[in-house]
Amino acid sequence: MDLWQLTIHEAHELLKGKEISSLELTQAVLQSIGQAEEKIHAFVTITEDLAFKQADRADKQIRNGQMTPLTGIPGVIKDVICTKGIRTTCSSRMLENFIPPYDADVVERLNAYGIVIVGKSNMDEFAMGSSTENSAFFPTYNPWDLTCVPGGSSGGSAAAVAAGETIYALGSDTGGSIRQPAGFCNIVGLKPTYGRVSRYGLVAFASSFDQIGPLTKDVTDSALVMNAIAGYDPRDSTSLPYPVPDYTRALIGDLHGLRLGVPREYFIPGMHPEVEQAIRCAVGKLEQLGAKVDWDVSLPSTPYALPAYYIIAPSEASANLARYDGVKYGFSYQDTSNMWEAMGKTKQFGFGPEVKRRIMLGTYALSAGYYDAYYLKAQKVRTLIREEFSQALGRFDALLTPTSPSPPFKLGEKVADPLQMYLSDVCTLPINIAGIPAISVPAGFSDGLPIGLQIIGKPFAEEVLLHIAFAYEQATEWHKRRPPI
Ligand code: GLN
Repeated sequence: MDLWQLTIHEAHELLKGKEISSLELTQAVLQSIGQAEEKIHAFVTITEDLAFKQADRADKQIRNGQMTPLTGIPGVIKDVICTKGIRTTCSSRMLENFIPPYDADVVERLNAYGIVIVGKSNMDEFAMGSSTENSAFFPTYNPWDLTCVPGGSSGGSAAAVAAGETIYALGSDTGGSIRQPAGFCNIVGLKPTYGRVSRYGLVAFASSFDQIGPLTKDVTDSALVMNAIAGYDPRDSTSLPYPVPDYTRALIGDLHGLRLGVPREYFIPGMHPEVEQAIRCAVGKLEQLGAKVDWDVSLPSTPYALPAYYIIAPSEASANLARYDGVKYGFSYQDTSNMWEAMGKTKQFGFGPEVKRRIMLGTYALSAGYYDAYYLKAQKVRTLIREEFSQALGRFDALLTPTSPSPPFKLGEKVADPLQMYLSDVCTLPINIAGIPAISVPAGFSDGLPIGLQIIGKPFAEEVLLHIAFAYEQATEWHKRRPPI
């Protein structure tokens, strides 16, 4: 077997048994990048020198018996997560040359686990988008079909994992950006509970939604990465001081005693018939595995999630992005002595069209006279949605929905119509609004393109999600399929 095809846990066994070294594994992954990258374009930066240095250090640690389940295993970090001394661009002209002076909390934690970083992955600019076409540099291509998008905004991370250009990756999810690309690339993507993983060093898009999480080849790997990145961080005031369980203990194949619900509002008119079919089939499988399923649950406020999100998220973005004024850091327009012109042109040339659209939407929603009508109203809707989830999750251990209403779409298909693009997150956005965790797992194919099943859980019940996802994975073969590339 080619080493770049390994999962984290498979690679760990081989490293532990001294059958391979981290240097060999890293070399194999870098070779795979060398071959696939020409077609996939998953990386903004490839950190070959750093990777070899870290692999060398990891091999020493392994020889000295200081090994964690991630030691010596190559990973990729989405380019919205700060890496000390490594360019962190958010796929934006604004930060094209930005080199952070510090590591994000998750990167500190992974470094302490002895990981190998092979690169920083492409994304929609500032994580705004669902296809990675909003990258200021280039789009990323779906390894399952190079004419299709890999999803977004963590499209680079998802495509890199699926194409074997890394063993695993980190992404960030504000409205679906881990789960949707995971679904589009036939891998596992977990968005943790808001507050479970520190946002320190994650460049802010919409601070009350953003969470970092793993994109992996299987559920076991997802649990292993969660073990490393979850936990309290006093530098993030929304991080919660709850103990971190050993997530691998949740990996059990039997679902007896679990109650699952299927919310009817997630099977919207216009959704792809094969997606609906695949998800109903997946739910049937979970029932066979012992879970008790209620096939008709209602979350009546669901249709208001998308409009509420597109008020609140841009409002927060407009405040967060005000820092890019050309003075403190980032791109700075210099060809004028007029301060106002310099600030205006900095934003004009530094930001792409989608980022500008969000800033305008947010500024408008927050302005005097409109604040009550839009922002405040959207916050009230947010409360309703949270309460509905909270009630439903009082009766069920988890809820089951499609990850996306359609399989991966064609490049260019939705770029001219932002509303169509926004709709591709209709199943994932409500989860961020409620701040609860959800995982996407491979659950079928339509015309050779992957379909994801989304499992939604109670706050801090990532273990339950991993349990259900693992049982499903054990009973199916979808996750074993690899793209033709
Ligand atoms: N597609 C959604 C948006 O554009 C969500 C993006 C994300 O989760 N970062 O806002």
